[in-house]
Amino acid sequence: MKSLWLKKDIIENFPELKENLESEICIIGGGIFGISTAHYLCKYGYKVVLIERDELASKVTGHTTAKITSQHGLIYHYLLNQYGKDFAKKYYEANQKAIENIEKIINTNNIECDFKKQTSNIYTTNKSEIQKIEEEIKALNELNIKAKKIEESPLPFKIISSIEFENQAQFNPIKYIKGLVKTIKENNGLIFENTTCYDIKKEKNSYICYTKNNKIKTKYVIIATQYPFVNFPGIYFAKMYQSSSYVIGLDTKTDLFNGMYINIQSPIYSFRTAFDEGKEILLIGGLDHKTGENIDYKNSYGLLEEKAKIWYPSCEIKYRWSTRDCITLDKIPYIGEFSNMLPNIYVGTGFNKWGMTSSNIAARIITDKITEKENEYEYIFKATRINPIVNKDEVKNMISQTTKSLVMERIKENSKENIDDIKEETGKIIEIRGEKVGVYKDIDGKIFAVKPVCTHLGCILNWNDADKTWDCPCHGSRFDYKGKNINNPAIKDLEKIKI
Ligand SMILES: Cc1cc2nc3c(=O)[nH]c(=O)nc-3n(C[C@H](O)[C@H](O)[C@H](O)COP(=O)(O)OP(=O)(O)OC[C@H]3O[C@@H](n4cnc5c(N)ncnc54)[C@H](O)[C@@H]3O)c2cc1C
Repeated sequence: MKSLWLKKDIIENFPELKENLESEICIIGGGIFGISTAHYLCKYGYKVVLIERDELASKVTGHTTAKITSQHGLIYHYLLNQYGKDFAKKYYEANQKAIENIEKIINTNNIECDFKKQTSNIYTTNKSEIQKIEEEIKALNELNIKAKKIEESPLPFKIISSIEFENQAQFNPIKYIKGLVKTIKENNGLIFENTTCYDIKKEKNSYICYTKNNKIKTKYVIIATQYPFVNFPGIYFAKMYQSSSYVIGLDTKTDLFNGMYINIQSPIYSFRTAFDEGKEILLIGGLDHKTGENIDYKNSYGLLEEKAKIWYPSCEIKYRWSTRDCITLDKIPYIGEFSNMLPNIYVGTGFNKWGMTSSNIAARIITDKITEKENEYEYIFKATRINPIVNKDEVKNMISQTTKSLVMERIKENSKENIDDIKEETGKIIEIRGEKVGVYKDIDGKIFAVKPVCTHLGCILNWNDADKTWDCPCHGSRFDYKGKNINNPAIKDLEKIKI
């Protein structure tokens, strides 16, 4: 099912690139980060080409919940302890500034995108988490960040405690992108859709971005593909993982509340209101898990729907969608130079599910780099940082998952099941002629068989029964049941197997 934001063709379509081009700047990826960066650079008069492998904003940005906030979980206690007061304060300021920048863009360009100032609240229903709230409040006080502790909420269940930030916001991300695209066109930026970049090569003082049949010669490259598709020398695949979440949109048949809400710890439940054809509906998101883990409908959308029915017994579920985002091991996005070895290539990734503000921060930092202006937040997000990885559990998790998928899953005995054992509308890896084959059977019993090996770095894929996709447990690439690649970092489709 399409997300609420993508259900109508709001953004116009652009042609595929069919000729070789020369440009000052090539932006690869047309999500909120790529488009925001194109917006700023076109305003400065640069010659910009943006290429998007699919349709603009059809990937993570089209499936977000679009809260625009500097409240990123309980991050300030963590930042204060790990990096000190100045650093934590700057992280907050960068994100607050991003909210202001987004509002300024909307007002200056008269973008109608349901932008609404809201409070953002992080809450707990669990007594054992009160201490975490207290620690965060203490950190916020020390950082002079305005926040309120509140023990009540308009949510349909009792909370124990929460922290409220004022002056946060929400919007419709696709209507916002539509407004940005208009400014890019007005400032002579070129946009191409259905145009995948497969490689970037250095040639004297330029870079060549290769698409299927053409090339773009450029001075600057901005990798805005969410998960970088270039593996070396950046090795981002060793610095972050992907986490999936699910969203449902419901007509609660009740009056709705103001404010955006999210709880502290797993299972995550996130709430915000949104407009659906003039009527307010409620979006409930959450139930995060590492992308590529085995998942079925019951434990994803099913759980959210079950909760929704308890909280709003007369509700009607109108939308269901899922997506995933890159999570960095130290909880801070990677923004700036892609690698010390490749000057003039920039990246913005690892937005940790807070990409509405982070993408604006990234667009500003990279625009300032290209226009040779100082940016006081640049050092916080430096993409080439080699800080000690403080989140040791995540590192262990990533290594063991990758080893399992690259080595153990390959030597694991194949399932003894055969095609007849696979139920309609589900998929499984079985052995055919001594080889592992990923088989999906559709509702009419038609078989789709693929080699279940990720085209990124060769990990064995898992079947995702909630979305009917093959997902990579190592780096989060995803493929539809026919083998078409739908999400990065892989860019090639799966090999089809004849059976
Ligand atoms: C369920 C969920 C809820 C979220 N809710 C919030 C929220 O409330 N607030 C918030 O701040 N953040 C939220 N986020 C995070 C936020 O949505 C993302 O961080 C943000 O949308 C990422 O934008 P992006 O431009 O980096 O990526 P994308 O939107 O994925 O854009 C990248 C684009 O690059 C294209 N591309 C990829 N490879 C190539 C290639 N080789 N050549 C050409 N094009 C390519 C893709 O097709 C894609 O369109 C949420 C995330 C999830 C998973």
